[in-house]
Amino acid sequence: MMNLEFGMANQFILDLSVNVKRGLRTKINKGWFPGGPPIGYFSNKFNLPDHPPVYSDPDRFAVLKKLWEILIEKRCTLDALFTQSSNWGLNKHKGRGLSRSMFYALFRNPFYYGSFRWTGEIYPGKHEAMISRAQFDAAQRILVGKRPECWTHQAFAFTGLIRCGECGASITAEKKVKHKKNGNTHYYTYYHCTKQIDPDCSQKTIRDSELEIQRSNGSGRHLEEVSKANGCKPATAGHPF
Ligand SMILES: [Zn+2]
Repeated sequence: MMNLEFGMANQFILDLSVNVKRGLRTKINKGWFPGGPPIGYFSNKFNLPDHPPVYSDPDRFAVLKKLWEILIEKRCTLDALFTQSSNWGLNKHKGRGLSRSMFYALFRNPFYYGSFRWTGEIYPGKHEAMISRAQFDAAQRILVGKRPECWTHQAFAFTGLIRCGECGASITAEKKVKHKKNGNTHYYTYYHCTKQIDPDCSQKTIRDSELEIQRSNGSGRHLEEVSKANGCKPATAGHPF
């Protein structure tokens, strides 16, 4: 009797498993990722009307798209991007912190160019692509190559938002590379007044780290933020747009 019951239970589980697999296969063939989508997307668990089975997260989609663009344009490290995304509050995913390794894995995920990986294979998807395939490929080339730590302090992103506190001219940034004797390479970003308004402006060049300090403690005489006057938000304020 027991054997028979187990037998029936096993058959039930086998049938269920076949049905589940068939369901997944149907979904995949229709172009929809059958699992939980990565950050930037939601799956339509509650069958919301006017929403496809996988739809873009209205809060995070644009932020992630911006991060992909920064990676491709500025060729910075994922480490620098991770710091930036923390400043933008992206790293809270489903109420939990998004770990560094999870964050890194995002930039290897074909989901973002509109496909998806399932049991080792890549399938074309119908969800909204965040980037093009060409952008994805460019990012992969950047990730395997060596590139400067360009954006640790929102480096060049600052330049449009700040002006010299003494003369009011715009600030320009320059990158410098220093090769140390021990073989290490250091990348620095320097900022200085363009002196377009007052050629005799006394302000000197400062390092990105000093700029960060001036920004955070509000002591910047040299660098006065005019972001508010321009109607922009500062680069580090919760949300980039
Ligand atoms: Zn100046």
